[in-house]
Amino acid sequence: MDLSLQPHAIAMSAQEFMTWSKGVVRELTKATGVKKAVDTVAGPFFNYGVRNSIYPLHFGIACCALEMAACSGPRFDNERLGMVFRSSPRQCDVLLVNGWISKKLRPSLRRLYEEMPDPKWVVAMGECAISGGPWYDSYNVVQGLDTFIPVDVYIPGCPPRPEAMIDGFMKLQLKMKNSRVGLFMED
Ligand code: SF4
Repeated sequence: MDLSLQPHAIAMSAQEFMTWSKGVVRELTKATGVKKAVDTVAGPFFNYGVRNSIYPLHFGIACCALEMAACSGPRFDNERLGMVFRSSPRQCDVLLVNGWISKKLRPSLRRLYEEMPDPKWVVAMGECAISGGPWYDSYNVVQGLDTFIPVDVYIPGCPPRPEAMIDGFMKLQLKMKNSRVGLFMED
């Protein structure tokens, strides 16, 4: 990667400057060994924090959303796992989709996903979100969330019970634990 400051640097756009400075920091931290040290010391802590403070988007489409509501009630109490529903995609790291996705809803759902900051994950809850469910081969229902958004965990059922939802999120935590989340900067 060419890190030399070009004579026309003064005319760089903000995005070009960010890309250039990110490259400089990456090369500098790698060359000096700082990257490895930060990854070793802080990476596990950051990863622990991320997987134990999951913020799913507070978004329910259909009947499965009632199970999601039950899961956040006092009996199942998903907050004990660090799961707190937030109403803005900009503060969320998990998109939990529960219910059938009409073709009219698809672009809005994709936009919500795009608005979430990285690192982010997606959970498809219930048969409708996984494959269209009872609306299999219907003219107006999308045949699965993973046809337009990458899905990390599938929770089967019609509807899945709150215990199944908790189990799905524990599997997501395991996936987060084994991911590269927490590393200072990707290579
Ligand atoms: S999977 Fe079943 S319970 Fe869930 S939204 Fe579809 S029809 Fe409703």
